[in-house]
Amino acid sequence: MDNNKIVTSNYNKKRLFIGLLAGSYLTLVLIAAVMWRISAPGLREIADILPLVSGIVLALFFGIVGLGIAGLVAAAAGLPFFPFVLRRTTGMVNLLFPLVVFFGGLLGFKRRQIESSFVSVSNKIFHRMNIKVPADRLLVVTPHCLQLDTCPHKITRDPMNCKRCGRCDIAALVTMAEEMGFHFFVVTGGTLARQTVKRIRPKAVVAIACERDLTSGIQDVYPLPAVGVMNLRPNGPCFNTHVDLDEFRRELENIIILPERKKDEGAGQNG
Ligand code: SF4
Repeated sequence: MDNNKIVTSNYNKKRLFIGLLAGSYLTLVLIAAVMWRISAPGLREIADILPLVSGIVLALFFGIVGLGIAGLVAAAAGLPFFPFVLRRTTGMVNLLFPLVVFFGGLLGFKRRQIESSFVSVSNKIFHRMNIKVPADRLLVVTPHCLQLDTCPHKITRDPMNCKRCGRCDIAALVTMAEEMGFHFFVVTGGTLARQTVKRIRPKAVVAIACERDLTSGIQDVYPLPAVGVMNLRPNGPCFNTHVDLDEFRRELENIIILPERKKDEGAGQNG
């Protein structure tokens, strides 16, 4: 696939979630306006000022949410944005997510498509915020299905139990963790992933998983910044899955602050 096609498909991916988010927001505004209009006479009977006060409160609330969404759209589209506003908007988007899925469902979009688009938007925001952390403050988590199903080694207890036979991608990930110094764990579910985050107390998380687990994981660890790398499923879901190791390494190189010595070595090799 040429680069233009990749850029276009990524852009379209993000557009779906942003479009549904904007649609959900406008629907909420419409519902609130209708409810306000219906309740205004009753409120006026209690006190003349009440319709005006409730109208101002609603306008302020939806105005702030609207500004947040506008900031998100700007950040996703590569335009200037306010990082402070965007950080709060990310939490708000997590709250609005079920509504976005419902609204998308009414329009015929599958949950998986919406989740995939959400991960794409979330990753874009992460990168626009230029988040960088030292390797020892980065946690990488992958699901158990990345391990070859016939492998007898208990890597969920300790990934270093992997014998690096190379028959699944765990070998390459363990080697990268050793080379670069990030924390790497293979988890069997969301509960174990959350426990690992609590124990390691990282500054950022990179997760490899399907769109469903990435969506819930990114929302669970908020306000901790998280990047999602979609797994590859040539054998169907949750069975002998893979990861694009080049894409994964690129993500790590974007996030990890390299020690000066390694940077110099890299520059020496390039020059
Ligand atoms: S690479 Fe590691 S985890 Fe994968 S099959 Fe070999 S020993 Fe098992």
